[in-house]
Amino acid sequence: MSVPKKILITGGAGFIGSHLCERLVKDGNHVLCVDNYFTGVKDNITALIDNPRFEIMRHDVTFPLYVEVEEIYNLACPASPVHYQHDPVQTTKTSVHGAINLLGLAKRLQAKILQASTSEVYGDPEIHPQHEAYWGNTNPIGRRACYDEGKRCAETLFFDYWRQHGLRIKVPRIFNTYGPRMHPDDGRVVSNFIVQALRGDDITIYGDGSQTRSFCYVDDLVEALVRTMNTEDDFTGPVNIGNPEEFTIFALAEKVVAATGNSSKIVNVKLPDDDPKRRRPDIELAKEKLSWEPSTSLDDGLKHTIAYFDKILSS
Ligand code: NAD
Ligand code: UDP
Repeated sequence: MSVPKKILITGGAGFIGSHLCERLVKDGNHVLCVDNYFTGVKDNITALIDNPRFEIMRHDVTFPLYVEVEEIYNLACPASPVHYQHDPVQTTKTSVHGAINLLGLAKRLQAKILQASTSEVYGDPEIHPQHEAYWGNTNPIGRRACYDEGKRCAETLFFDYWRQHGLRIKVPRIFNTYGPRMHPDDGRVVSNFIVQALRGDDITIYGDGSQTRSFCYVDDLVEALVRTMNTEDDFTGPVNIGNPEEFTIFALAEKVVAATGNSSKIVNVKLPDDDPKRRRPDIELAKEKLSWEPSTSLDDGLKHTIAYFDKILSS
């Protein structure tokens, strides 16, 4: 068993953050969860509230934060297109000012800091599958730019703090992740399709459904984040974290309808601007440096996620 650490998780009341809080508390660490509840909810962390090794602080990371910790996981940022486009200026501020504030904190404390980056830094990729050396194809003035370019700038800041100040940084690029505690209204494809199927509503495919994504179950993702933080100091990333099995959005819709046993109709609606056409991670670097690859199949992960939504929709 490793020595317990004091760990800050920003965005800890969100979907991925709440699973990460649980995992790090379970490992014996002291966890400080910081969140402004823009998309996160207290219900996600209710089970931890009475734990003496867990603490919550309401705070917006666009403002400086003064706490004492040894490791920082920076997850604060809305992740679904609907949420990050709701207030795009705040989204860019969260990524950029948030990174500046947390890097400043890490510098003062000489703490190790991990940035939850994203496959969106590759934009609508011209290279398939995407590997870390690819610089991406983003539209700097489109509706997704507040997220994509904000996250790209955060990566720039991380690498400049590493070069200029010798900070210990870790930059995982997270590909589409799903599982229990996704917000039912957050508009992402897995939660949308499951909620629509459980309610007997039409399943809304944007465009013709031929675009692809690769879906990683949240438990696999959290394991990879913890392993990334625990790599040798000379490993910074960027490192792709995701499930390399690729599905069309149409195939996902069919799987969800079959798994819920529902008879929802699949309908096609307008494709949003700049929607990436194909996305699949090359995870060779993660395999080598983290000794990690995902172990949950889409069928199994969907089963757990459907059970979760079934419970919350009927309560
Ligand atoms: P989420 O929206 O459930 O969680 C984000 C959390 O950050 C929420 O709790 C929200 O309230 C909080 N937050 C937002 N702005 C904040 C601010 N200014 N100050 C403090 N807290 C703030 O999303 P998620 O899926 O859990 O994503 C977590 C992180 O992982 C994000 O940084 C996201 O960009 C990254 N990521 C997620 C995915 C995915 O598929 N889920 C993919 C790539 C990257
Ligand atoms: N999508 C869809 N129907 C929905 C929600 C999303 O067809 O109800 C599509 C969306 O256009 C995209 C894919 O599913 O091609 C993944 O969308 P999501 O918002 O989950 O993530 P991202 O686009 O950021 O990968």
